[in-house]
Amino acid sequence: MRKDKRAHWHVDQLTLAGQILGAFILESGDECALNAALDGLPIPLPGFGSSDCRRCAAHLRLWPKQAALPSDWENARKAAESSPA
Ligand SMILES: [Zn+2]
Repeated sequence: MRKDKRAHWHVDQLTLAGQILGAFILESGDECALNAALDGLPIPLPGFGSSDCRRCAAHLRLWPKQAALPSDWENARKAAESSPA
């Protein structure tokens, strides 16, 4: 999340250009399962963060401002945990 870094990963482009509001850590998380659990959210940039993934159109989702983040995140986390790896 540092601003004084060389951009290497796709997410670096976001952290350098945007304002970080927070972060979540999902222990033993599967980013593809989490992405699938969030499939109701739009993909703002196809391919973003998923260049090494054959299943997902992107590993970036747009979370609308009006979405209730804590409860939606909790539902997505539970769905990701119950999805097969
Ligand atoms: Zn994926």
